[in-house]
Amino acid sequence: MADARPVGVAEEWGYLDGGVLRPARTGAVCITCQHFRYEVGSQCVTVLTCPIHQGLIPQGEHLTKRCRQWMARRELAVGWCPEVG
Ligand code: SF4
Repeated sequence: MADARPVGVAEEWGYLDGGVLRPARTGAVCITCQHFRYEVGSQCVTVLTCPIHQGLIPQGEHLTKRCRQWMARRELAVGWCPEVG
């Protein structure tokens, strides 16, 4: 059965411009952002992506930087299963 998702689109994006990501001293970095995504590219290398900017995040910078559109991950903001409890 064919996979309906587009293949390789995000992988073809360019890296985010230098002015987009800013150093962060808190846990509010790309990896904790609601918008952060990753996938395995055609070369079997993990590709870090941001659909908001439609760009690639350089390896390592997802741990130390963020942009102004950072948003807390929903499961961290409201819990994994907010309907229970
Ligand atoms: S919106 Fe900003 S903080 Fe969130 S993943 Fe994209 S670049 Fe990182």
